[in-house]
Amino acid sequence: MFGKRLVLFELFGFKVQADMSWLFLALLVTWSLAQGLFPAFYPGLPPATYWKMGVIGMIGLFFSLVLHELSHALVARHYGLSIKGITLFIFGGVAEMEEEPDSAKTEFLMAIAGPIASLALAAGFHGLTLAGAAQGVPDSVLAVAGYLAFINVVLAVFNLVPAFPLDGGRALRAALWYWKGDLRWATRLASRCGQVFGIVLISLGVLSVLTGDFIGGMWLSLIGLFLRGAASASYTQLITRQAFEGEPVSRFMTLDPVTVSLELSVESLIEDYIYGYHYDLFPVVDGPRLVGLVSTRQVREVPRAEWARARVADILVPCGPDNTIGPRADAVKALSVMRRGGNSRLMVADGDRLLGVIALKDLLEFLGLKMDLERLE
Ligand SMILES: [Zn+2]
Repeated sequence: MFGKRLVLFELFGFKVQADMSWLFLALLVTWSLAQGLFPAFYPGLPPATYWKMGVIGMIGLFFSLVLHELSHALVARHYGLSIKGITLFIFGGVAEMEEEPDSAKTEFLMAIAGPIASLALAAGFHGLTLAGAAQGVPDSVLAVAGYLAFINVVLAVFNLVPAFPLDGGRALRAALWYWKGDLRWATRLASRCGQVFGIVLISLGVLSVLTGDFIGGMWLSLIGLFLRGAASASYTQLITRQAFEGEPVSRFMTLDPVTVSLELSVESLIEDYIYGYHYDLFPVVDGPRLVGLVSTRQVREVPRAEWARARVADILVPCGPDNTIGPRADAVKALSVMRRGGNSRLMVADGDRLLGVIALKDLLEFLGLKMDLERLE
């Protein structure tokens, strides 16, 4: 989901990082505060002051988002769920969960923690605005505090819309889950709401563009698109997880895969193996011992002139947790390893003994059959 990320600092043991796309949001917010909102509500200040207010407002928004996500993360940790970290990106922030909550109550509390934090921040900033006005604090300060009170209310309200995977949608899913005890049904309903809300946002965005608000309209449409995609992806993810949970890797692996030896030339690897079998990955063995793999990725690094001279031994990738998995591991684990390493095949090995190869293609085929036979949709 994310591109290049910058680790900013650590908060209560959570890594806070910013995706490069956050920069775009930061610039947009600063610019629209300094050029639009502040001059409209507090006219007559020097332009440099508006820019300073814009920057401080943007930093305030940054910390508001971080605190919102932090409260999700703290509740998650309280219930024993591990959180990879907090990441800010173009559409706000996300506390990245490594695993899904295992009970409706945990999910509900985790979901509402964020909006509650935002409302508390809003109340705090509103209080500051009132106290500041009574003390005769300058307009520029009041404006920023007022904006932060407002934006935190917006964050709370927007996130409480019952559209999965927004917080409100998660809370809705938790309530449905608690009610009927059926996580899949609950997720399907909540994610439908998410998709519908996404479409509503896209339509509103298009309408705004047509009536002249180009940036605001584009923004709404993009958020709608993102939400719609995220809603259907989360449902697919759940179906996948439920289909493969408890199924060992050994059930899906291809036995006796074609292997290559260390001495094989790259030329013969390409001609006889890659073009011969149409696989993109071959386990490399040294006698009975599995030592690593070669794939088209490594072959591409070798200049054509070297093909005849280079050996598999020169380019092999040693076995590691990104390309090798045990036969008793869960198939869900295999999927997440594939995703992490960007590989569509993994070697299945018991120690240094090669047992087979597991391919994404086979897992997807099984998923398709299972969805078909069990009428999952
Ligand atoms: Zn949230």
